[in-house]
Amino acid sequence: AGPAPTEFIELDERWSTHNYHPLPVVITEAEGAWVTDVTGRRYLDFLSAYSALNFGHRHPELVAAAVTQLGRVTLTSRAFHHDVLGRFCAELAQLTGTEMVLPMNTGAEAVESALKVARKWAYEVKGVPAGQAEIVVAGSNFHGRTISIVSFSTDETARTGFGPYTPGFVVVKYGDAAALADAITERTAAVLLEPIQGEAGVIVPPDGYLAEARRLCDEAGVLLIADEIQSGLARTGTLLALDHERVRADLYTLGKALGGGIVPLSAVVGRRDVLGVLNPGEHGSTFGGNPLACAVGRAVIRLLSTGEYQRRSASLGAHLHARLGELVGHGLAEVRGRGLWAGIDIAPGGLSGRAASEELAGRGVLCKETHGATLRIAPPLTISQEDLDQGIDAIAAVVRRP
Ligand code: PLP
Repeated sequence: AGPAPTEFIELDERWSTHNYHPLPVVITEAEGAWVTDVTGRRYLDFLSAYSALNFGHRHPELVAAAVTQLGRVTLTSRAFHHDVLGRFCAELAQLTGTEMVLPMNTGAEAVESALKVARKWAYEVKGVPAGQAEIVVAGSNFHGRTISIVSFSTDETARTGFGPYTPGFVVVKYGDAAALADAITERTAAVLLEPIQGEAGVIVPPDGYLAEARRLCDEAGVLLIADEIQSGLARTGTLLALDHERVRADLYTLGKALGGGIVPLSAVVGRRDVLGVLNPGEHGSTFGGNPLACAVGRAVIRLLSTGEYQRRSASLGAHLHARLGELVGHGLAEVRGRGLWAGIDIAPGGLSGRAASEELAGRGVLCKETHGATLRIAPPLTISQEDLDQGIDAIAAVVRRP
């Protein structure tokens, strides 16, 4: 036998910063919807790395694309052209029905990039006086961890201790269209929203909210930026979560699953007249749009272009929500979500989210609490119905209290 799990955990604790509180499971291998720990025990993955593993672990077509590209060229920097970038950007624009692509690496970087673009657009195109652009965001948002992004977080744990904060953001209640209308002024460059708030607990806004946000932005000449880093790329049963509302954003941020769970790959996609404000030297990233990431991204786009994963998410999601719905009043207080994505609140008096995650791990199912008594369920979209049912059975057993 190799080293015990505790030995790996002690190494992590000793040498890596303590900015996470992982479950005590040490994964060493994974395939599809299953992971194996260092003792050989197998677990169902019901988190999918926060939706970065929409296609499961090591999808053969994605691995093949990465391996092929590893045999050619992995990094050029943007000082030179390479033969994968343009094709990746063209295919991503075609897939999303947009006109231009700004490739980056992480989700937070894509959000930062969209904010920079929106500010520059406000000054150069809309005519907002220099230094006065405002961006309206929603309470209980999650857009990443950089200083500017935590500046407009309403989560005190994420924000406290990291000031001074970046000015220029206005926070309004999520789901409240009247509050949004009140917050928009002549200085507003953009409204930034998650179509469904993931980290907040898979919060689906009231019907009509996103369409009303679109209408308000059109009326005031304001950009609508949809952060689809977690909600996009088939997770909710459509390519983009906004598609359910037949609403189009001016800019979308994409990430997580765009890199197939293999490489960090994010992007801002959207209107040419908006993304076109960037000139050489004004923005960039050494690894942004690198050949390896673009090759994996192209393979992801090929998977998404068939619609198969969107359909799987919709049909397996209907099954998931029907079964979780039966637990409301029997251990669950509420179930929210869309497609193969759910936020479930354990009823008062039941386990904390953390304790429930630990019990689920004990039963061979991995997921993670968000806040308090809320768990987020996001299995890979490749999961079989049988495996899905096995995971739901475990959830039912853990939340159902005598
Ligand atoms: N935006 C949303 C909606 C997210 O859910 C996340 C990550 O959870 C991010 C942005 C940040 O992405 P990253 O962790 O890759 O920086």
